[in-house]
Amino acid sequence: MIGKDTYLNKLNSVQRKGLAICLNSSGFVEPQVLEVMSGILPLHLRREEISIREVAKIISYTENIPIKRHLVRWSSNPRLESYISHFGMMTTLSDQMKTNHEIDVNNNQPEFYYTTSFRPSRESPEYWKHLGSSKNRTSIQSDRGRDLIRAHLGDISRQSWVAFTDGSCLGNPGPCGAEAVLYRNEASNELKKPVSSRASILLGDLIAIDLVLSEVEASRARPDTIQVFSDSQSAVGLLTLNWKPDSYTNIIKEILSKINRIEKAGIPVKLHWTPGHSDIEGNNIADRLAKEAAAEASQQDNLPAIVTKQDVKRNSRLLINTKWQQCWNEANVGRTYYHLRNSVTEKIDMDKPDKKNFVVLNQLRTGYCLNQYKSKICPNISPLCECGEQETVDHFMMNCTKQHEIREQLRLSIFFNTGITELSKELFLNCNSDNDPYPEYKDRILELFSIFLEKSKRFS
Ligand SMILES: [Zn+2]
Repeated sequence: MIGKDTYLNKLNSVQRKGLAICLNSSGFVEPQVLEVMSGILPLHLRREEISIREVAKIISYTENIPIKRHLVRWSSNPRLESYISHFGMMTTLSDQMKTNHEIDVNNNQPEFYYTTSFRPSRESPEYWKHLGSSKNRTSIQSDRGRDLIRAHLGDISRQSWVAFTDGSCLGNPGPCGAEAVLYRNEASNELKKPVSSRASILLGDLIAIDLVLSEVEASRARPDTIQVFSDSQSAVGLLTLNWKPDSYTNIIKEILSKINRIEKAGIPVKLHWTPGHSDIEGNNIADRLAKEAAAEASQQDNLPAIVTKQDVKRNSRLLINTKWQQCWNEANVGRTYYHLRNSVTEKIDMDKPDKKNFVVLNQLRTGYCLNQYKSKICPNISPLCECGEQETVDHFMMNCTKQHEIREQLRLSIFFNTGITELSKELFLNCNSDNDPYPEYKDRILELFSIFLEKSKRFS
């Protein structure tokens, strides 16, 4: 573990105090419970998550960066004792991610340094904003898109080459293919390429554009212009509007330099976005063939699996959440709360039934409230309830004779609202959705229980 224990303990203590204040919890609630309650990772796991992301980042650097040279030197000398180091820990963790989630940081794409700033330099064209997306496009928008692109095609000189490009992915990320159909003079030809055994559709869309440009470079013909129609706004935005790339920076750089070379040779290259599935012939062919290319990619086992920053981010969190869950399962504290909330990743709404009663519910869930608990901290306090019994959570909620009347009111209103006849502690406090028999009534049950809490005046 990185860092001296004395420093780490100080940090842990800050996290514990901070969470207790935010959650309005007793200062005695264990940090493990507070972390699960708030959905905040324990600090040692946060450091592990950052380590994985950091080593992936370093791997993506060129060797001009000193820390990359250090890592390369370290990797070339893998003695056992060298694992007791920052790089050792980072590498061990990233190996765990590779084993558990098949994400290898060594397949991370190289980082590319841009010299320009990445504020979009140009507004996206007006028509981009009015044609919806492939998920929500109406038939009117589809027709309008088709008419617009057809009108645009009508304006292009007959000596230009026109291409429609498309990428396809079986899953996102998943096996990925690229395709383009290129119309030159009266002829058309189809270009198809399985790209990667694992990538996102954006890579397919970019490679499809690259296929057309490679074809142009390889040809000796001199068309008036090259007009490329892609159905990916992201691809066109990255290449023409100076959008900031999060991934695939190398291929973007490659495409931009191809465009540069072709234009220097006197052939303007125009990239356009065309709405997908809008009944434009070239578009439809590209779409069909890209799916074929993706299917081919899934059959080939020699294609690279490309890992992006987002893959590392997502999968390092998955790995860390698994570890967190393991820690929570095996912890020897906070078992009362664990019984009611055993999943570390399950989100619960902190505004339900309302902020004030949420705090009370959490106190009841931890058991850190009422006289029996208070008497353990402060010997002057009697562990007994006014009715003479030990005042535990179970006693207050289910048995205390003082609350008998309002409990019966609660029982009736629960029955009238939900048809449920049996009251139990779990009915009101359980947060485990996998064993919640009445998920559809959850909110209503909490609202009714908060009326009971208020009438009891025990927490006011
Ligand atoms: Zn009582």
